[in-house]
Parts: sequence; C-alpha cells; structure tokens
Amino acid sequence: MKRLALEFLQGCGMFGLARVASARMARILMYHNFCADGEGLSDHVSVSVLRRQMQYLSRHFRVISLSQLIAQRRAGQPLDNHTVVLTIDDGRRNCYQYLYPLLREFRMPATFFVVSSFIRGESWIWTDKVLWLADRTKRPDFLAGERIDAFFAFLNRLHPEVRDAHIEALSMTMGVRIPDNPPPKYAPCSWSELREMADSGLVEIGSHTVSHPILATLNDEESWSELTASREQIEEGLGGEIAAFCFPNGKPEDFRASQVEQLKAAGYASAVVTRYGMVTEKANLYDLPRIGISGRTDPLIFSKYLDGAEYYQARLEGSLGVRAMAQSSAS
Ligand SMILES: [Zn+2]
Repeated sequence: MKRLALEFLQGCGMFGLARVASARMARILMYHNFCADGEGLSDHVSVSVLRRQMQYLSRHFRVISLSQLIAQRRAGQPLDNHTVVLTIDDGRRNCYQYLYPLLREFRMPATFFVVSSFIRGESWIWTDKVLWLADRTKRPDFLAGERIDAFFAFLNRLHPEVRDAHIEALSMTMGVRIPDNPPPKYAPCSWSELREMADSGLVEIGSHTVSHPILATLNDEESWSELTASREQIEEGLGGEIAAFCFPNGKPEDFRASQVEQLKAAGYASAVVTRYGMVTEKANLYDLPRIGISGRTDPLIFSKYLDGAEYYQARLEGSLGVRAMAQSSAS
C-alpha cells in the first residue's frame, strides 16, 4: 500500500479502530539487532528509533513478559487488552549495549532467546558468517539483495555439516578467511551480562538451541541434543531455570511435528516462531506467531503492524497464515 494511502488511513483513525478491534489479541514482537544512532546499519534498530517505538508502546499498549502471557494462557484466563511481548533472538552484545538501558528506562520486560554455544564463545552464528562474507565481497551483485536470500534458502535446507562446508568453500573462493571469533558487530553477550539483565527482573532468557541449526535438517537424535543441551548450558551459565524456546529461522518448513513433541518432553513451556500473526486465545503455545520489526522501523509501518491494520489487511487478502512476512533471512 502506498505511503500516502497509509497516511490517509492513519489520519482518519483506521489504525486506531484496528487497535480497538484487535485489543484482545497479543502481539509478540521479534527483534534481532540494535545500534547507536548514526552507525547506519540497515538491519539494526537504532537507539532513537527504539526510543520512539517504546514511547508508542507506552502510550497504546501494555508490555508484559512472555512467561506472564504463557501463565495467563495456561490458566485459561482471557488475555488483557493491548498486550505486547518483546522478544530478541540470538543474544548479540548490541542488545545489552543499546536495548537494555531503554528497557530499564521504560520498565519494560523482554525475553532474549540465546544460542548457547555462541554465548559460551565456542563459535559464532553461521548466518552471521554469511553476512560477514557478504560485507567483504567487492562485487555488489554477489551475495546482495535477492541473491543472499536465495543463498540462505539453499543453506537452510542442508545438514549443518554440509552447510558449513559450503560456507567454507565460499570463503575460500573469495580468498577471505573467516575469523575464529566474531567481529564486534556479531559478538555475543557474556554470561555476566545476561545474568545482570536477568537479575534486574526485566529480562527472561530462553533457548535458541546450541548452534542455531534449522531443526528440520537434523534427525530426531540430533535435535533432541540441541533442545536439551542448550537448556542445560543456559541454566548452568545463568543459575536459573529456563522455559521458553525459539525455533531458528522459525518458518513452518523449518521444524517437524516430532520436534515439537521433543520440546514438550524436554520441559519447555512455550515456543515462538517467525510466522506472522497475533496471539489469540486459541493459540498453540508451541507455535506462537510474531511480528518482525527489523525493516519496519518507519513509524507509519510500525504503527500499521502494531495497531493491527496489517493483520486485518492480510485477513482481507486471505494471506494470513501463508504470508512469510519476509522476516529476516537470518533469523
Ligand atoms: Zn536466530
């Protein structure tokens, strides 16, 4: 929809109407990366944009923790009006640097889904290695735009060993050696930073696996190990129990029904995906849809998604449920 039309719809109160009509559905927002103002990182949310979003949330919504939402749903309680939950995937240090101070200022809770081997310093996230290689290339047509989306779509269907061999082969072709440790842009939070945030009472930590594999590419034994070992490692690192899970990449084709059963058997209370949608009172707690915020930092677009205008438009178009949301390729 053209910007002028959106401004018109917002101006005549349609966004506000959508917000009222969708008040009983919860929104789970999905973030990945944050940066300082002026850093100009297109896939990151800058501090001033984030502050504006939090002001909007404070004015129109009620931000609660994911565990609170799950407890309400498990108790069969109706959802409170205008509920929002904040989630941040992967556990990069920029979340501690730029998001956490604003969570404290606005007294807003959030859930961080962390990749345990990443926090332990054993490896960096494979999707970041691809993005880092894309930054290194001198050919603008190579690993850019649709090409990088297609490359991720190819890699996402491979077993991690084969996938890593392809990434290694790409780096050899480019004549660039991937460093053992992530550059600052891709660095993880430390355990002490995660503990500090958890101790504040504002931040909950959940699992995003040990090594960020697409679970559908693993056999059941391998995925069981990712689900249980990540939980053990995070609980050991933090000294507390964790109950929430986030599927890497999180699209319907990225995990199997048997792996959802494994999640339950491993003791997780909920799981979020990247499928677009809002949380209704009938929502499956192991398939909770989210609203991706990366790339939707324009205040008008942010309002359209938060207020529910996007949701009703998708319903009118019949695209809800099939809409891939063009969420980040590197979720
Ligand atoms: Zn992720």
